Amino acid sequence: MGQLDGKTAIVTGASSGIGYEAAKLFAREGAAVVAVARRRAELDRLVDAITAAGGTAVAVAGDVAEESTAAAAVEAAVSRFGGLDVAFNNAGILGPAAPVPDIAVEDWRAVLDVNLTGAFLGARHQIPALLARGGGSLIFTSTFVGHTVGFPGMGAYAAAKAGVIGLMTVIAAEYGPRGIRANALLPGGTDTPMGRAAASTPEARRFVEGIHALKRLASPAEIARSALYLASDASSFVTGTALVVDGGVSITRT
Ligand code: NAP
Repeated sequence: MGQLDGKTAIVTGASSGIGYEAAKLFAREGAAVVAVARRRAELDRLVDAITAAGGTAVAVAGDVAEESTAAAAVEAAVSRFGGLDVAFNNAGILGPAAPVPDIAVEDWRAVLDVNLTGAFLGARHQIPALLARGGGSLIFTSTFVGHTVGFPGMGAYAAAKAGVIGLMTVIAAEYGPRGIRANALLPGGTDTPMGRAAASTPEARRFVEGIHALKRLASPAEIARSALYLASDASSFVTGTALVVDGGVSITRT
C-alpha cells in the first residue's frame, strides 16, 4: 500500500533534479502525478518512466511564472484524475550571482517571478481545488539560503525563497481550519543541475560540501523523501513549518 494511494499530486520543476525524483517517488507511492516544467521533452521522458513502472502521470508544459500554467495544471488534475490532493510547488531558478548593487533589475524580477510569484500563482489555483476535496497538502521549495545562512551573491534568490516561507505561513493559517496543510521544504546543497551550477569548479564543490555537517551534497532522491513526508499523512499534524533538510549546513561553522 502506497503512502499516496488514490491521491493526485501536482509537481512543478518536474523535468529535473528534486522535482523529477519527487514525481517518480509520488507516483511509486500511488499518486497520479501532474508533472509541470517548461521542457516538454524531459517531462515526456518522466511520464514514460513513471508509466513503464506501472504508475500514472501526465505532463503540463509551461512557465510557472505564467498564470495559465497554474490553471492548466489544476485543470489536468481535475479533468484527468478527478481532483487535487497535493501540490509540490518546487520549480525554481538561482539567477546570476552578484552583489546586491550589481543585481540587474530584470534579473531580480525574473528570480522573484519564477520562485515567488510562481508559488503564489500555483497556490492561487490549487487552493480551491484542494478545498473541493476537503483539504490536502501544499509544499513549497524554499532553501537554507537567506533563512539560516546569508550566502553572498544570492540576494534575489534569498529574498524570493524567504518570501515563499512567508506566503506558506499565511496559507497555513488561512486554510488550516478547512483541512489544508502548507509547509516549506528547505534543502541544503543538492546534487542537481542547479546545485552543480552553483558549485561549478572542483574547489567550489569541495567548499559547498564542506559547509555541510555531513560533508556532502544531498541526492535529489533524499530531498524527495522529505517532500513525500510533507505530502503524506505521515505529517498529518505538521503545518506552517519551514522544514530544514540541509545536511547540517545551518549549524556548521567549521
Ligand atoms: P534543477 O535540477 O535545476 O530543477 C529546476 C526545475 O525547475 C526544473 O525542472 C526546471 O524545468 C524548473 N523550472 C525552472 N524555471 C521554471 C519556470 N519558469 N517554469 C517552470 N519550471 C521551471 O534544480 P533543483 O535543485 O532540482 O531545484 C528544485 C528546487 O529546489 C528549486 O526551487 C531550488 O531553488 C530548490 N533548491 C535547490 C538546492 C540545490 O542545491 N540544488 C538547494 C536548495 C533549494 P524547466 O527548465 O524544464 O522549466
